[in-house]
Amino acid sequence: MLEKVVIANRGEIALRILRACHALGIRTVAVHSTADRNLKHVAMADESVCIGPAPSAESYLNMPAIIAAAEVTDAQAIHPGYGFLSENADFADRVEQSGFVFIGPKADTIRLMGDKVEAIRAMKAAGVPCVPGSGGPLGDDAAANVKIAREIGYPIIVKAAGGGGGRGMRVVHSEATLVNAIATTKQEAKAAFGNDMVYMEKFLENPRHVEIQVLADGQGSAIHLGERDCSMQRRHQKVVEEAPAPGITLEQRAEIGKVCVEACLRIGYRGAGTFEFLFENGRFYFIEMNTRIQVEHPVTELVTGIDLVREQLLIAAGHKLSIRQSDVVLRGHAIECRINAEDPDNFFPCPGLIQHFHAPGGPGVRVDSHIYEGYRVPPNYDSMIGKLIVHGADRAQAIARMRVALSEMVVDGIKTNIPLQQRILADGGFAQGGQNIHYLEKRLAERKEKALSIL
Ligand code: ADP
Repeated sequence: MLEKVVIANRGEIALRILRACHALGIRTVAVHSTADRNLKHVAMADESVCIGPAPSAESYLNMPAIIAAAEVTDAQAIHPGYGFLSENADFADRVEQSGFVFIGPKADTIRLMGDKVEAIRAMKAAGVPCVPGSGGPLGDDAAANVKIAREIGYPIIVKAAGGGGGRGMRVVHSEATLVNAIATTKQEAKAAFGNDMVYMEKFLENPRHVEIQVLADGQGSAIHLGERDCSMQRRHQKVVEEAPAPGITLEQRAEIGKVCVEACLRIGYRGAGTFEFLFENGRFYFIEMNTRIQVEHPVTELVTGIDLVREQLLIAAGHKLSIRQSDVVLRGHAIECRINAEDPDNFFPCPGLIQHFHAPGGPGVRVDSHIYEGYRVPPNYDSMIGKLIVHGADRAQAIARMRVALSEMVVDGIKTNIPLQQRILADGGFAQGGQNIHYLEKRLAERKEKALSIL
């Protein structure tokens, strides 16, 4: 087993990793910026190292400082969490070259999945259903590009091969704007990602976001843990996630799950990972693979009873997967609400001092959060301050439990999006289930219009 792990992250996920380590008897090293001395997991870690000033570029993205922290504390492995360096292939390389275990897939796998054109190519070859598209990078021949778009059929979406975080994409509705749209996306991609390669896909108009969780040991075994529905989004950011996805049948789950498992085996995948799909008219279309633990992993944990971070640690320690596909049984329904320090109406970040904090409780309620009374949310990072996750025997019970839990939760001193989450959980369309990725933004726009018409 690993003896000591560096947690190269902050906030709730750092605490989540610390808990999984301690439950396995693994000692922990927290690395943090000067703005994060008071993080909960820093106090709970066996050791802590300050790796730089508040800006992430100088601390949580500072590769030499993180690797040096592993060296001075005599740790064996580095867990990158999500965000920051978690999908940085160069970091994974440097970690391994320095003699440490990177808790994640091999650097080459991260590199492959980070290039969307290559990722789609590899997935297609592995039999994963993809969105109809150019199948490769677009060249400079305008006539050829017009021809490709005609074959796909409008609307299409032009996407940057190196894009991420919902950036570097442009929807094109007709031939008149195609050539310009390609040129502009190329320029933007060059500026934002240092890579002007772009490709084309059919633009799906009303898809849901459904993703498959996988675990693979890199030694010939892989399993899937069913799906999550993350269609409640605002500006491509997930707001509420759930498992299983409403309306997905056992057969659909088994079929797409099997395809993902086979793809993992084919590319020699190692660790936890997620295949993200758009789901429309009963069909799955691969969009990308996340080669790390995800924010929404707890809903899968609650319906499968499998501790995903524990599994990551065991795989990194060289263990073979001990869970077989037939051991994975989905029980009940789980929902996660992301709790953000932001104004629930205009979404402006709202850092500051938490004067009172009361966590909800009761059967099936889980709070993954690093906040406490007297904690000051720094302005330097993502506004997510925690996740509220509930489990119920079925979706209706999960919704009921989430509504009670949200009503119990008190975070005073700063604004949070709890009122927005309460509105979503009280919404008729949400109760129905299976809404598409545009639903939340549409409802928010309607609400804004209503407010304006009253004034
Ligand atoms: P990123 O890595 O930036 O998150 P993705 O490829 O995962 O990029 O796409 C982000 C989001 O953009 C998707 O969740 C979806 O909302 C939208 N999107 C991407 N491709 C398509 C498509 N072909 N049709 C419709 N929407 C798309």
